[in-house]
Amino acid sequence: MNYVERVLENLKAQNPNEPEFHQAATEILTTLAPVVEKHPEYEAAGLLERFVEPERVIMFRVPWIDDSGKVQVNKGYRVQFNSAIGPYKGGLRFDPSVNLSIIKFLGLEQILKNSLTGLPIGGGKGGSNFDPKGKSDREIMSFCQSFMTELYRHIGADTDVPAGDIGVGGREIGFLFGQYKRIRDEHVGVLTGRGLSYGGSLVRTEATGYGLVYITDEAMRVRGDSFKGKTVVISGSGNVAIYACEKAQSLGAKVVAMYDRGGYVYDPAGIKLDVIKQIKEVERGKLKDYAQRVSGATYTEGCRGIWTIPCDVALPCATQNEIDENSAKILVKNGVKYVAEGANMPSTLEAISVFQKGGVVFLPAKAANAGGVATSALEMAQSSGRMFWTFGEVDKKLKDIMVNIYHNIDGAAKEYGYAGNYVMGANIAGFIKVATAMMSHGIV
Ligand code: NDP
Repeated sequence: MNYVERVLENLKAQNPNEPEFHQAATEILTTLAPVVEKHPEYEAAGLLERFVEPERVIMFRVPWIDDSGKVQVNKGYRVQFNSAIGPYKGGLRFDPSVNLSIIKFLGLEQILKNSLTGLPIGGGKGGSNFDPKGKSDREIMSFCQSFMTELYRHIGADTDVPAGDIGVGGREIGFLFGQYKRIRDEHVGVLTGRGLSYGGSLVRTEATGYGLVYITDEAMRVRGDSFKGKTVVISGSGNVAIYACEKAQSLGAKVVAMYDRGGYVYDPAGIKLDVIKQIKEVERGKLKDYAQRVSGATYTEGCRGIWTIPCDVALPCATQNEIDENSAKILVKNGVKYVAEGANMPSTLEAISVFQKGGVVFLPAKAANAGGVATSALEMAQSSGRMFWTFGEVDKKLKDIMVNIYHNIDGAAKEYGYAGNYVMGANIAGFIKVATAMMSHGIV
């Protein structure tokens, strides 16, 4: 058994019942085999063992009172995974599916993603099994205040800077920030994704979706291709999906389908994004209503069917493991040319293999959706410098970062003899920077 296999086997034995964490660790570690072979000093320093073990895991009780006066109790998490290259940075997810395994998979991915941005940010992730769906604003506020009443002691502008993720948008960040400021009496950049009136950055809302399209566009450009005239399918209809759709449309693509937890809409004339925004951002409603408001559009219950719609570009932007092997095979059979992951780990390991064997240009999440956290780091820079950049300035920096990430992962893949394999490229390029920093710090 080689070094990577031993570390993986040990990880699975020591962290049982964490399937998502095992999946992410397997995907990452197996691609790092050529790097650890080239650097035997890593094994001597126990580098991989330390890399897959979070520096700190915080789990806590979140009690709050619902509108009927009943006491509710949720679980709260913050995994401070790796601070070798900067303060922990990564979102908070509020979703009933949240558990330690999911937060650890997201945290591990985040280390490499943050490294790829080229900015000084370490990896972390957090959240709760709280379900914001159907809750009143007062209930959301009560939950967020209780969550922060524990979390505040573990985070800080130079220590750990959380942001949003599934179920955590501008409203939740506002409530969380308000409580932090009240307890600590500090108006600092301790959370990103803040509103523009209290230290937020322009483009942060759009950043992940725009960044996803920028990196895909660069992958197209170097192949003499572009988004113009392409048929695109996007899963999800939340923050990432909406702004990926907006940017893809502005580059001349036709986005024909999107989904939410209930099902998917297919609009052969091209998705009307203003209708989606009205339903999802303003009304916090269901996508089902789209087909009632737009003639020619159809709605189908259930999500998986979306991948049977023929497209040139697929942008999964909802959640983990939404594309399985079978969906990947259908996409390839229908001629998909580019798959770029807006969500974290939306493709199973088997699906990734189908894409790679099928000659699809596959851009993995940690590179493709890094635009969000990169812009969060730009928000941190503006906060600490007491500056405020224009939309155009931040957008240009975001685009430059995404183009750089593409060439960085492309270069790393080529250097190690895996040209065109961006899973290898992203993991290797992200890891080397973190590993170099960890080696400099001694055994810590
Ligand atoms: P949102 O909560 O804004 O949107 C999530 C969307 O996905 C919603 O449309 C939701 O449906 C749908 N969805 C969530 N879970 C499921 C499920 N189990 N089955 C079907 N549909 C589902 O989240 P974001 O857009 O912020 O995040 C989406 C993905 O992108 C996540 O994987 C996140 O980790 C990743 N990401 C987000 C970043 C950001 O900046 N926001 C940065 C990097 C990655 P419904 O509308 O019904 O709730």
